[in-house]
Amino acid sequence: MNYLSTRGHPDRKRFCDILLEGLAPDGGLYLPETYPEVDAATLAKWRALPYNELAFEILSLYIDDIPAADLKAICAKTYTAEVFGSDEIVPLRELEDGVYLEALSNGPTLAFKDMAMQLLGNLFEYELARRGAELNILGATSGDTGSAAEYAMRGKKGVRVFMTSPDGRMSPFQQAQMFSLQDANIHNIAITGVFDDCQDIVKAVSNDLGFKRKYRIGTVNSINWARLLAQVVYYFAGYFQATASNDKPVSFTVPSGNFGNVCAGHVARMMGLPIQTLVVATNENDVLDEFFRTGVYRVRAAVDTHETSSPSMDISKASNFERFVFDLVGRDAARLRQLFVDDLGLRGSFDLSADPAFKQAAERFGFRSGRSTHADRLAMIRDTEKRFATLIDPHTADGLKAAREQLVPGVPMVVLETALPIKFASTVVEALGEEPTRPKKFEGIEALPKRVVQLPADAEAVKAYIAEHCD
Ligand SMILES: *Cc1c(COP(=O)(O)O)cnc(C)c1O
Repeated sequence: MNYLSTRGHPDRKRFCDILLEGLAPDGGLYLPETYPEVDAATLAKWRALPYNELAFEILSLYIDDIPAADLKAICAKTYTAEVFGSDEIVPLRELEDGVYLEALSNGPTLAFKDMAMQLLGNLFEYELARRGAELNILGATSGDTGSAAEYAMRGKKGVRVFMTSPDGRMSPFQQAQMFSLQDANIHNIAITGVFDDCQDIVKAVSNDLGFKRKYRIGTVNSINWARLLAQVVYYFAGYFQATASNDKPVSFTVPSGNFGNVCAGHVARMMGLPIQTLVVATNENDVLDEFFRTGVYRVRAAVDTHETSSPSMDISKASNFERFVFDLVGRDAARLRQLFVDDLGLRGSFDLSADPAFKQAAERFGFRSGRSTHADRLAMIRDTEKRFATLIDPHTADGLKAAREQLVPGVPMVVLETALPIKFASTVVEALGEEPTRPKKFEGIEALPKRVVQLPADAEAVKAYIAEHCD
């Protein structure tokens, strides 16, 4: 399998090359040259497989530069009941007739990002050892991504993590999750500033090419193809649990920010999984909902990006969206460049409303969308607790709200549960007046010793810190 760039760069790459890279050299995103199609016999065989073997089968279609036995061992080591809390790994639970929650958040940090990041940690360790190389991961987080990355990379050979976060602005639970890690290869850096300052620092350091090369700086952000690929697996696993045979259509609703999660659903559908509809659920930051309703994709300015009670979906642009638009315009790289380089670069938006391609988003690719507000989230958390005795987090509440607007009788609707309520306790308390239950392993973590340094919002200070801790 070869990978290409959405912006038309002539190079073709193998999986392990793009594993350790971010963007393609022309600024595009990597995609496989084709989506492997899965026939009925294969689907029938996959239905019976445990999660780690299903993951191996799907990954094998996209990875041909890791020996099969090694890839199998990596999948087996990653997706265990010990790490993800159950043999199903992503258990499905029926809320009411035809509406399901697929639990993706029982991994180490209680959010769905563990599903991909745990695999990435093992792939990185494997590939770095094979190359005799090292990698220093530099990131910025306001919560879920940073903790998932740290729990995936802790103790891994050849990898260090330098994770910046805005000092004092994460929830106490998220802070405790990250700062209580005592592993020598994990560095928490609390920046005096806001999340944007952290992102600016990461950009400034990465733009210093000399520094980047000397200190082997890398990232694990959501445009990484390996992360997206890992997420394809749970669409198959959810489908198999929601149906008794492979001729039944199923729809999925996905709480969305950077479009990574739902893009994996799109890939699963392109492979032939019988997905009827993919519902993109957004909060007040409704860039994506606006596109699927109107055909206009309009990136928001920082001042128009709201801080909401589903903070992991607070985005001004959706960094994986380019992958879907590439398919939508028939994989025409010149057209894609016009939209993402010329139009977005010049005007901050593009308009496909009059383009025949736009209709295809719904008709051929099965996309729908929905949007919710803080009041909707509170109402949905209350309703779900009252009627089904089930606690959901605010992101999953965004999903459930959008899902209910798109139900079709006879077609199961699977809502992806992207975090556990304890991660966003204050909103749950606001809705219900009570604290969500906390998994045993996290009892008392706020009281554990913290390993974190404070640095000013200054790229030079962060560079000095990295240099000092890289021997
Ligand atoms: C990251 C995240 C999302 C958004 O996922 P994308 O892949 O960026 O669309 C939704 N919910 C939670 C809890 C998250 O951590």
